Amino acid sequence: MNYSLLIQSLNNKGNEKCFDCATSDPNWFSCDLGITLCQDCAVHHRGYGRYISFVRSTTLDNWNIKYARIAVAGGNDKFANYLQEQQIQLPISYDSSDLGSILESYKQQLLTQSNLPEIDQVIEKYEKYLRTPQPIQKPIQANDPNQQVNVQKSKNISGKVPFKPKQQIAKGIFQEE
Ligand SMILES: [Zn+2]
Repeated sequence: MNYSLLIQSLNNKGNEKCFDCATSDPNWFSCDLGITLCQDCAVHHRGYGRYISFVRSTTLDNWNIKYARIAVAGGNDKFANYLQEQQIQLPISYDSSDLGSILESYKQQLLTQSNLPEIDQVIEKYEKYLRTPQPIQKPIQANDPNQQVNVQKSKNISGKVPFKPKQQIAKGIFQEE
């Protein structure tokens, strides 16, 4: 199952801006720190090495459930709060040796939290959303008397549909039933 739409929908965690530089609409994610990154900052994270930060694209890469769980458990606000508690000033130097154990302990904490039942609930909701065909409404053309409102079933919501704004996706996934 492809979890990328789920990742894109997690905007309610301060994720709408790159954690490192606050650029809007970041499309990369550090899968063990649970934070969103813009492309430039993702390149820097790649440079730090896999064991400091493992980055995936939210639009190009396939996501497995392990990283999806981390994304649900984490978020930019949460990481920022953690660093604040540790009295670490932003922006941080991820590869500084002083920070090593602090980052490691946060990653462990997230990993543990990512296996809690409340995360299952979000994942299940998303999987249900993917299994349910989504109606796509075509715009009505006022001048055409034969125009009917066509409702198409979307064949594959996970990647074969045109890009939707993130809030719209979030609404689709987490709308109240
Ligand atoms: Zn950035």
